[in-house]
Amino acid sequence: MAKPVVKKEYTLSERIYLWEILKGMKLTWGHFWFNFKACWRPGPHTIPTCWQYPEDRTREISPIFRGEHMLQRDEKGRETCIACGMCAKICPAKCITIKKAKRKEGDEEKYAAKTYAASFEVDLLRCIFCGFCEDACPKNALVLGQEYEFARYTKEECILDKRKLLMNYRKAKEDGKLKPPRKRVPVVPAPPKPEKAEKAEGAEGKKAKVAGAKGKKKPVVKKKAAEKAESTEKKEAAEKEG
Ligand code: SF4
Ligand code: SF4
Repeated sequence: MAKPVVKKEYTLSERIYLWEILKGMKLTWGHFWFNFKACWRPGPHTIPTCWQYPEDRTREISPIFRGEHMLQRDEKGRETCIACGMCAKICPAKCITIKKAKRKEGDEEKYAAKTYAASFEVDLLRCIFCGFCEDACPKNALVLGQEYEFARYTKEECILDKRKLLMNYRKAKEDGKLKPPRKRVPVVPAPPKPEKAEKAEGAEGKKAKVAGAKGKKKPVVKKKAAEKAESTEKKEAAEKEG
């Protein structure tokens, strides 16, 4: 139902506007003086809302910020990605391409698992930085780091291959910008399967329903047949009379 619009009754001060303008100016000047006084405070960020980027890069990035991707290594320096393809599958922009390979003998120091990503590509031009790939990764291998400077001159440079992804990890480690390992979401166990007896009951119930439905339909067919016979009888009688 439509809601009736009740027109607001303005007070005298509201109709004059002057008082409302003064109220607005009070708020504006309050902010102005707050920022003006902050200019004289010591510290790198003299004005609280302005950072002198790119000269000043000391601003803290939120720990949940999703920046450029990186492929992490374990504490022994081995690649942790097992090329399961979960990240590529869940990616809504379809911007991850992986080629899987089996670890050869003697490569145990390079790769943590028996399978690894022979090639791994992330197309930054298509990525929407949703973080689904990070959440889906069972090995915490693919992470969206804190790097936010993506500007590049060519499209080819926007495709992150495995070498670049591993380099991003190394750089983040050197700068101390690695993300803490994510807390795994607890897996809810599947509900127990219904027992055989319940299944049998369910099957019987279905049969009874089908039979019931058939039983209900039959009288309709009979009724129609009876109506047809009656109409043909009437026609015949009318023909005889004629
Ligand atoms: S952040 Fe989202 S869009 Fe980007 S690669 Fe990961 S899943 Fe795909
Ligand atoms: S990054 Fe994670 S989810 Fe993607 S293929 Fe490697 S192990 Fe699987």
